[in-house]
Amino acid sequence: MARDGVTLGTALLRGLQRKCPCCGKAPAFRGYLKIVEECGNCRTPLGIYPCDDGPAYLTMLLIGHVVIGPAFMFHIFYTYPVEIIVPSMLAAMLALTLATLPVVKGFYLNLMWYLGLKRAR
Ligand SMILES: [Zn+2]
Repeated sequence: MARDGVTLGTALLRGLQRKCPCCGKAPAFRGYLKIVEECGNCRTPLGIYPCDDGPAYLTMLLIGHVVIGPAFMFHIFYTYPVEIIVPSMLAAMLALTLATLPVVKGFYLNLMWYLGLKRAR
């Protein structure tokens, strides 16, 4: 199944690159997280697809598994003093979250586009 000749895999890869899901040429974002109203290349409306809290939840789920899971698995919490481990974990989670959120939002936007889930009016 494809939408406008674009497969789900292609749309999601374009999302990871923060590009328009339809043409893959123009950026789907203006700045860090602001979605453009329409694609600068193919004029596909992108502002009508809701992202809301979805990318934030997905990012927290991902970062939680990447940081907290291994910390328990490798006994980091039991090996190092809490005054070292807590600020280190918070800094790692903050940096990873800020780096990951825009990519996850691109992924999520393009998934919404592919599924045709538009914002309710
Ligand atoms: Zn486009």
